[in-house]
Amino acid sequence: MKIAVAREVEFYERRVALIPDMVCRLTQAGLEVLVESQAGAGSFFSDAEYEAAGATIVADAHELWGSADILLKVSPPTEREDGQLESDWLKEGAILISFLNPLGMPIGIERLAQRRVTAFSMELIPRTSRAQSMDALSSQASVAGYQAVLLGAAALPRFLPMLTTAAGTIRPAKVFVMGAGVAGLQAIATARRIGAVVEAFDIRPAVKEEVQSLGAKFVEVPLEEETVAAGGYARELSEDAKERSRQVVAEHVAQADIVITTAQVPGRKAPLLVTEEMVASMKPGSVIVDLAADQGGNCACTEPGRDVVKHGVTLIGLINLPSATPVHASQMYSKNITTLLNHFVKEGQAQLNFEDDILSSICVTHQGEIRNARVQLALEALREPSAMG
Ligand code: NAD
Repeated sequence: MKIAVAREVEFYERRVALIPDMVCRLTQAGLEVLVESQAGAGSFFSDAEYEAAGATIVADAHELWGSADILLKVSPPTEREDGQLESDWLKEGAILISFLNPLGMPIGIERLAQRRVTAFSMELIPRTSRAQSMDALSSQASVAGYQAVLLGAAALPRFLPMLTTAAGTIRPAKVFVMGAGVAGLQAIATARRIGAVVEAFDIRPAVKEEVQSLGAKFVEVPLEEETVAAGGYARELSEDAKERSRQVVAEHVAQADIVITTAQVPGRKAPLLVTEEMVASMKPGSVIVDLAADQGGNCACTEPGRDVVKHGVTLIGLINLPSATPVHASQMYSKNITTLLNHFVKEGQAQLNFEDDILSSICVTHQGEIRNARVQLALEALREPSAMG
């Protein structure tokens, strides 16, 4: 069984799917590991380290993809410099494990089905305790939450902690975190460690205790509707509830030095939490870090992929924040991937038991079929634009 690690070619992607430490574990279990030359360069793992861990370095990308029984990646397959599609290089029956953005890029999933590839989408790992150590959305979200605070702090023209010095006393900065899921909680913890005063808001009331246990104040917005969907995720709010929560959070945004927004609703555009009016109400020099930038943004003024200044406020819309901490993001992703491999590769063979809830959740294509109903709906919607209204 050949496990192949591809080089990431998207210009913003510095992570690698498997680090040398994890290669060791797979080779010790009798698996053959192939690594595309320079695959670890963006995260400072050299070809020599991979070789020392027992991997074979393959210079030719086409050869690597074509010989893989299981191909490991971070970002969805893409087009190479010469215009060739990476997914077309996979052999029939190969297994691809990667973030695949299945709802955002259903055409890519259809292509994998046509190639008769078995595709496992890391976004779809179930949020259960059994699958926790494979949960790459969580591991990467926590890196993003940490990065968001550092970016915000670096852009802020003030200190974050309280300082008592001979040159006077500095008041601590106020950080307001909107969306207290995995990324938000990590942002709260990081901002608290640096010494900021932190407030947080989420529509799921269950997070109140977690927020408070990290030393932050929870901003309550009474909403008279169900805000939690299956799997512990948020539901999209009614227009009325959105408006009500905006009124409550507006004053907290106005007082904050840094606002970090992380709110997402799976399969939907990110909810708009910070209006342009709210941005204009902030002190000049304040900062908004919008972690939902690549899903349309939580702030009306965000420009995805760019930092801009509007109404005197710096808006950070950087996408793929985990890639900015590539060493540990890759280490955590590798651990998620290796745990998943251990889950279904037994005695050198892939055991594709789709009765298993983890495999059935993550498998989006198998034997020429698209196995995920939401991806099928997304494809149908693309084909019938009129049906979208
Ligand atoms: P996410 O990235 O989908 O969303 C981030 C946060 O935004 C969530 O807390 C959500 O409630 C919040 N949000 C959505 N709409 C909002 C709005 N209009 N205003 C304010 N906040 C809004 O979520 P996530 O971080 O991936 O995880 C969500 C939850 O999933 C977790 O908190 C947890 O309950 C569950 N989870 C479980 C496991 C596990 O059991 N293994 C692992 C990870 C997450």
